[in-house]
Amino acid sequence: MAVYEHDVLVVGAGLAGMRATLAAHQKGANVAMITKVHPVRSHSNAAQGGINAALTSRGDSWEDHAQATVKGSDYLGDQDAIEVMCQEAGDAIIELEHMGVIFNRDETGHLGTRRFGGQEVARTFFVADITGAAILQVLYEQVLKAQVRVYEEWFVTSLVMADGECRGVVALELMTGQLHLIKAKAVVLCTGGTGRIYEPTTNGLVVTGDGLALAYRVGAPLLDMEMVQYHPTTLKGNGVLITEAARGEGAYLLNAKGERFMEKYAPKLMELASRDVVSRAEQTEINEGRGVDGCVLLDLRHLGKEVIETKLGYINEVAMDFLGINLAEEPIPVRPGHHYQMGGIKTNVLGATSIPGLYAAGECAGVSVHGANRLGANSLLDTLIFGRRSGEAATAHAKEQSPKEVPESVLEADGALIRSFLERKPKGDSWARVRLEMGETMNQYMAVFRNEEGMKAALNKVCELKERYPRLAVQDKGQVFNTNLLFTLELGFMLDIAETICVSGLARKESRGAHYRGDIPRRDDVNWLKHTVVSWTPEGTQMDFAPVTITRWQPQERRY
Ligand SMILES: Cc1cc2nc3c(=O)[nH]c(=O)nc-3n(C[C@H](O)[C@H](O)[C@H](O)COP(=O)(O)OP(=O)(O)OC[C@H]3O[C@@H](n4cnc5c(N)ncnc54)[C@H](O)[C@@H]3O)c2cc1C
Repeated sequence: MAVYEHDVLVVGAGLAGMRATLAAHQKGANVAMITKVHPVRSHSNAAQGGINAALTSRGDSWEDHAQATVKGSDYLGDQDAIEVMCQEAGDAIIELEHMGVIFNRDETGHLGTRRFGGQEVARTFFVADITGAAILQVLYEQVLKAQVRVYEEWFVTSLVMADGECRGVVALELMTGQLHLIKAKAVVLCTGGTGRIYEPTTNGLVVTGDGLALAYRVGAPLLDMEMVQYHPTTLKGNGVLITEAARGEGAYLLNAKGERFMEKYAPKLMELASRDVVSRAEQTEINEGRGVDGCVLLDLRHLGKEVIETKLGYINEVAMDFLGINLAEEPIPVRPGHHYQMGGIKTNVLGATSIPGLYAAGECAGVSVHGANRLGANSLLDTLIFGRRSGEAATAHAKEQSPKEVPESVLEADGALIRSFLERKPKGDSWARVRLEMGETMNQYMAVFRNEEGMKAALNKVCELKERYPRLAVQDKGQVFNTNLLFTLELGFMLDIAETICVSGLARKESRGAHYRGDIPRRDDVNWLKHTVVSWTPEGTQMDFAPVTITRWQPQERRY
């Protein structure tokens, strides 16, 4: 049996994973990247609107960016981490530009910016409305140039532990159906978000929270899992994202009476208030009968055909393809939809988790720079800054380690689980049904508005689904590219994480950022200015709390 062995193994080939891989390579590590889909099919590829940075050469200041991020987070973000991210943002943009990312330019030929929500300054750099794809392609070129080994279409099923340290992964090679052990002195999880736990979501099919569950199952705690972002503008019907850049370029939100209702909720920043505020405003309009068929309207007509076609061409196509709407002629129905996981695997600013040898960066990590609500265009930034930092820290850690014995027997448990799914005869229940019931439950109860009763109902349902899960059977019995088996294994990860979202939501007895409880509608800094921290134990979930790091911005009432 082949033995695979590296200093550093990066799990994930989105922006965080690629940036971590390049950093480890530059620091001289024998690094490899493993990904369950082709690298450029990672969800980072779908990012539309842009990436934030305050460039001093443009008269902007990182302190302003940090302050907006802290306020956006509803004061739950750790300010030391936010300072790091905002201070290092400018260099990250320039570095991308030097690597070859073709950012849009302004009339003077300098890098162009657009305004994004929760910020009063235009500091979002962009490539039309395909920013993620543009950056991901360029980083992938760098990965190819570095000739790093990529285990492509390999699916990590568990982390390998030895003496309390992370020493590699077990992975399923999708092409052959074989399980392999890949040893590493350090593992960096860059596995992205948890989107598909909800139905519908803006997230791609592959976004199933695997990394969070992998870490959680070996004892790494998860931070602020209740903080789940609903994006204000997702398409009626299927939940496809309509980028915030539309509002950044000047689009209005209208209710059924044709009113720009944001005047009532955020008189200053209007449509560009933070996402939690705008989503709640929309849902309130809809709930109080001023919606249009369960939606509100996003009106871009006044921007004109040229701006729409040159800067928002992708969403123009989406509107036409799915609803037959030309954005220059007709407003488009949108509603708040599941988008992003603010919480994640608890790490420090170097990406280190509580487990020696295990690092995390990007959407799967909880550093925490987004706190209770992420500002648009801060996530791409987060992936680059903390991707690089975790790649460097993992390399430094790996260099201090000597080889350790890892027994082949670590493959046995996953092998047995897979065999049990394949050997059982399908009857009745299917992974697809369990997954849909989970997604709809989460979208009903763990959404824009929550309360005790609903969150309990969600938790009960998730627990019921967890009981049904081990009895599932996989219909396809083959070895080669068994997507049925893959989806079933992913579902196991998703159910674990769904439970942590419900448990953390029930624990937080206040409203803050994206966690808005109708039954406790106030923020409570005296008792709740703290992170929720959920850990796995053999007896079930365990809830703890951790202090928020405050450096210079004291909590204030949030007004936009
Ligand atoms: C539609 C959309 C638009 C967005 N627009 C913006 C925007 O304009 N600006 C912004 O800042 N943010 C935006 N975001 C958020 C941002 O794109 C994501 O948070 C970010 O790209 C996540 O990057 P990542 O590297 O952490 O993970 P991803 O890009 O999701 O990559 C995850 C990687 O992990 C791999 N992986 C996962 N599980 C396993 C496993 N078990 N085994 C092996 N490999 C595995 C996958 O194959 C993949 O390569 C958007 C998000 C969406 C969904």
